[in-house]
Amino acid sequence: MFHPEFCQKTLCHSDTAVRCGMDNSCPPALLDNLVRLSCLLGSIQAYLQLPPGALKVNSGFRSQALNERVGGVPHSQHCQGLAADVVCPTLGTPAALAMAIAASPCGFDQLILEFGRWVHVSAAPADRPPRRECLSIYNSDEGYLEGIVDR
Ligand SMILES: [Zn+2]
Repeated sequence: MFHPEFCQKTLCHSDTAVRCGMDNSCPPALLDNLVRLSCLLGSIQAYLQLPPGALKVNSGFRSQALNERVGGVPHSQHCQGLAADVVCPTLGTPAALAMAIAASPCGFDQLILEFGRWVHVSAAPADRPPRRECLSIYNSDEGYLEGIVDR
């Protein structure tokens, strides 16, 4: 079941898709994944004791076409319905949010502080446990850095 705050509509919304008239609805085969993501976001919200609406989803599910349009990496977990890019101004900077999630017991698969601007968080697929991998990226030349690195 979807967490009420992180519903299917919220997790499939994309400003880019709306602007470009793209269909970004989640295929039925990926709905189980989207529910896993919804529950993970709900557990993060609960653990961090965030008020309703505080954890904002900028991008959740992406169709292949949308992922290409927004320059997402190939095989992005967004396209599997497993990843969301989130911010939480109520809590603080994206770096502060990433560190708070990293310090929580929440079962995320990957947590990536991206360009210091948002936090990419993913749920593990059903067939393996979450890795709780923490990474940061500031530019493509330097690539992924180990851990949550605040600059
Ligand atoms: Zn992402």
